[in-house]
Amino acid sequence: MAVQTVASSTDSVNLGPAAALSCRECGHRVPLGPVFACEECFGPLEIAYDFSGYDAEELRKRIEAGPANIWRYAPLLPVPADVADKPNLNPGWTKLVRADNLARELGVTGGLYVKDDSGNPTHSFKDRVVAQALEAARAFGFTTLSCSSTGNLAGAVGAAAARAGFRSCVFIPHDLEQGKIVMAAIYGGDLVGIEGNYDDVNRFCSELIGDPAGEGWGFVNVNLRPYYAEGSKTLAYEIAEQLGWRLPDQIVVPIASGSQLTKIDKGLQELIKLGLVEDRPYKIFGAQAEGCSPVSVAFKAGTDVVRPQKPDTIAKSLAIGNPADGPYVLDIARRTGGAVEDVTDAEIVDAIKLLARTEGIFAETAGGVTVGVTRKLIENGVLDPAKTTVVLNTGDGLKTLDAVAGTGVTATIRPNLDSFREAGLG
Ligand SMILES: *Cc1c(COP(=O)(O)O)cnc(C)c1O
Repeated sequence: MAVQTVASSTDSVNLGPAAALSCRECGHRVPLGPVFACEECFGPLEIAYDFSGYDAEELRKRIEAGPANIWRYAPLLPVPADVADKPNLNPGWTKLVRADNLARELGVTGGLYVKDDSGNPTHSFKDRVVAQALEAARAFGFTTLSCSSTGNLAGAVGAAAARAGFRSCVFIPHDLEQGKIVMAAIYGGDLVGIEGNYDDVNRFCSELIGDPAGEGWGFVNVNLRPYYAEGSKTLAYEIAEQLGWRLPDQIVVPIASGSQLTKIDKGLQELIKLGLVEDRPYKIFGAQAEGCSPVSVAFKAGTDVVRPQKPDTIAKSLAIGNPADGPYVLDIARRTGGAVEDVTDAEIVDAIKLLARTEGIFAETAGGVTVGVTRKLIENGVLDPAKTTVVLNTGDGLKTLDAVAGTGVTATIRPNLDSFREAGLG
């Protein structure tokens, strides 16, 4: 693996409690740097922390006194202690909505919540992960931010780069939703459409990293992936803190590459180990669209092998046919007693409308996937309606308007009362 960094030395890298990179497969450790695969076994690298010296009560107080964004959890993230003073988009601390109307529709009696990440600066959960990658890029001396994206990531990178004074050049499949394309282009960086699907885009970016053309570039989800991925832990921290420092019984999480789901589990485990929450069982459920369901298919088949698929679904933000973290998602779903399930495009649209009509939350297709899967898992008796359940909405419906095309005015009338009465609305 070519280690390319423009910093003169990474010896002095200060990323807070991040101590090293460690291989998820063989445990081999290497110093912090812009690398993502183990030199011994090619397994994925992840951040190893030094959390020694933390006292649970002090840490909880420090977090509660922190800013209303992800940086309240800086002591648990790979970022310098003064991160909140640097120019970034300060995402996070989004609403945990108690969804009683939706609960009634679905028959949930144990408390149903929607963690609504459409409230982030670029209207998706991706601002959380990009914020971590940005700090790593600063630490390693990169000046250009890049990514392979299914849409939301491109916007999050463009915005973060604009704010922090980086150049950005991001890559997307050419056929994305207009809302995602505009969101990715508006911040002034370069946006490149690739003739192919996300897996083609990702393969291209891997080639670019090894080429002089990509030298000095921080690809947030490739060579900065170990740092990027940690941002998803903040969803776990926030959910637990917003529930009063308590673990939910069940969480329903969308799966694209599977990174978010695995890091939510990592975050919950850390909270237990640090003594911030009581250690009690929780179940993690993964949600996919039927048109891109490699992890769900493997789960149901009872295998560890995730067979790549060619995606064909309206849930484009989740359309990764060869999910890097698929096997780890299977492990977590099985270990916690959860499951992985999928829903059709029609069920996704129904679920978007259901969430909007019951809770006033307009989710993007990924939110339709989690709500749809939640409904299906309850109907199938897999998800326990008597338990506290958190469903993630990771993006904003305004970015995927095509999915609900046909939703519109109840009636068009002339501007007079007769016409209004004729329409049967008075
Ligand atoms: C990227 C994304 C996800 C999850 O991505 P992972 O690759 O599984 O971490 C979920 N929802 C939306 C809207 C996304 O854009």
